[in-house]
Amino acid sequence: MPELPEVETVRRGLQPVLEGARLVRVEARRPDLRFPFPRDFSARLTGKTITALGRRAKYLTMHIDGGPVLICHLGMSGSFRIETSDGSDIPGVFHHERSKSAAHDHVVFDVASAEGARSRVIFNDPRRFGFMLFAEGTPDTHPMLAGLGVEPTGNTLDGVLLASLLEGRRSPLKAALLDQRLIAGLGNIYVSEALWRAGLSPLRESGTIAKAGKKAAGQSERLAGAIRSVIADAIAAGGSSLRDYVQTDGSLGYFQHSFAVYDREGEPCSTPGCGGQIERIVQSGRSTFYCRTCQR
Ligand SMILES: [Zn+2]
Repeated sequence: MPELPEVETVRRGLQPVLEGARLVRVEARRPDLRFPFPRDFSARLTGKTITALGRRAKYLTMHIDGGPVLICHLGMSGSFRIETSDGSDIPGVFHHERSKSAAHDHVVFDVASAEGARSRVIFNDPRRFGFMLFAEGTPDTHPMLAGLGVEPTGNTLDGVLLASLLEGRRSPLKAALLDQRLIAGLGNIYVSEALWRAGLSPLRESGTIAKAGKKAAGQSERLAGAIRSVIADAIAAGGSSLRDYVQTDGSLGYFQHSFAVYDREGEPCSTPGCGGQIERIVQSGRSTFYCRTCQR
């Protein structure tokens, strides 16, 4: 399942090709993915100009001039492949190689830039958990997006806001940080990483870092900073992998994000002076990786 940094990397990869471009031809090659395609999917997009390509949590939002906003979700295995006269590229490949099999090419967008350069953007999704839906007006009020919490990118999420979100909560920190109604777009990998950076245990009762007092304020500030930095670092690394990929032109140099705790069970903790070992536990049916020595 792609996490927010991958989706943002996809957005940044698609942006130069799609923003300001005209949709010359749009083809859905099957009636549905996770959900049926909207009625008149192709007709409502064809001939229109894309004014902006945005993102909210793990949803991409393609804003159409005078028309709907197309909300796209990558699901488990979805990817966009860009084909231009210079070759092809799949932005946002972090942890898993993406399918290039034409059998799984489900949506084709043929676009023309303002200068007339033609490109093709293909949505490929072997498992078909991805989807595309129309939002009329602002996508923020669409049922898929309406209940989402604060973005972990930018400077909105600070210690004060995080403390107010966690105040009075009895659930473990891990569960609270995965709750999309509080913070939107954080997933299993980056929650483990952020908690390790902040030195906080995933098992800890969330409300304890929100209580009034200097120590709690310091902890919520540290955790907010760790969440923002872990996401920002991953996005930056995704961007650099794209540059490498373009340079090597075809030899697949996939970026492997170097996680501090995720998928590192039994390895020594890399916190200076810690000496602990990374453990894997299961919380709400999902793996959590942490160091019980330095995460309290
Ligand atoms: Zn440690």
